[in-house]
Amino acid sequence: MTARVDIREDWALIGHDWAIRALARSVATERAAHAYLFTGPHAIGKTMLARKLAQALQCTSEARPCGQCLTCQKIARDRHPDVQIVEGVPVGYKFDEKSPPAPPRANDWERRILKIDQVRALQHDVSRAPFEGRWKIVILRRFEEANEEAANAFLKTLEEPPRHTRLILTARDASLLLPTIASRCQVFALRPLAPAHIETALIDKWRADPESARLLARLSAGRLGWAVRAHENRALLDARNQYLDELNGALAEGRAERLVRAEGLAKKNDDLPELLETWLGWWRDVVLVQNGDGSRITNVDREDALRDHANRFSLEQAQSTLQAVRATARYLTQNVNARLALEVLLLNLPGK
Ligand SMILES: [Zn+2]
Repeated sequence: MTARVDIREDWALIGHDWAIRALARSVATERAAHAYLFTGPHAIGKTMLARKLAQALQCTSEARPCGQCLTCQKIARDRHPDVQIVEGVPVGYKFDEKSPPAPPRANDWERRILKIDQVRALQHDVSRAPFEGRWKIVILRRFEEANEEAANAFLKTLEEPPRHTRLILTARDASLLLPTIASRCQVFALRPLAPAHIETALIDKWRADPESARLLARLSAGRLGWAVRAHENRALLDARNQYLDELNGALAEGRAERLVRAEGLAKKNDDLPELLETWLGWWRDVVLVQNGDGSRITNVDREDALRDHANRFSLEQAQSTLQAVRATARYLTQNVNARLALEVLLLNLPGK
């Protein structure tokens, strides 16, 4: 027989209430799934939720997770010996137990690989009894970065996990994982928060001024983590402004200048996914304005420029540019020549 434990439904998180309720119920019966998968875009709150779930599982207070006890605090700071976070290492990095830890990710888009040696190390770790907690918990971030070898090795642990183990995977999308992995997890697809929800949270909890809260909430596309980071680190917004300036620059140029610009942009490989994401948001807004749907635009601080583009270009031009940007973003994930892809894109942007 399994005892019920008291799991709170208030996890001191913003948003994802439905997921928290379901997780609380799942943990309360102590027959919790042995593996969970949280999916959703970058910075939507997957790892935050994973840490909270780890707290709910390990917390030593009556009503879990309390957020106050030593266990909860250690987990919040990633210092608990029985809760480890594993994520991919930079391409070319040699994983070895004695090698220095991989540097923190330079940005959301940096490509990394989760390697079989990392999976073996965690398998060795979970084979031992918990050191001080109830469970051995492993949070595997961005599992889509696991290469095939690593994913297959990990599958064995998912199929026959040691009894004291709980596994929490995060990924952008379940379809990016082997079906045999996703099907062995209880899946929670996290959804973007409403802009108004993020705006209020930024003002109330992070003391953002209302104007900047409104802009960041819109630009975040429902990702609270992104909004908070952009609030705390001006560089994210500066980068976005620079990407839009690049676009405007290209629109004013002729063929030869665009080729030079494409060459320059291709050198900033790590920035390209975000640059294209920003351009995508821009053309989506242009189409919205053209369709008389201007109240839903994202780039609220550049409304005049949006209206100018909406007038200057036809709906057909805006839509085909939107598709071209989307296609380029897809090509770049398939290792095509970045310079070539950007040349084609820039040459196909509408003209002066
Ligand atoms: Zn606690």
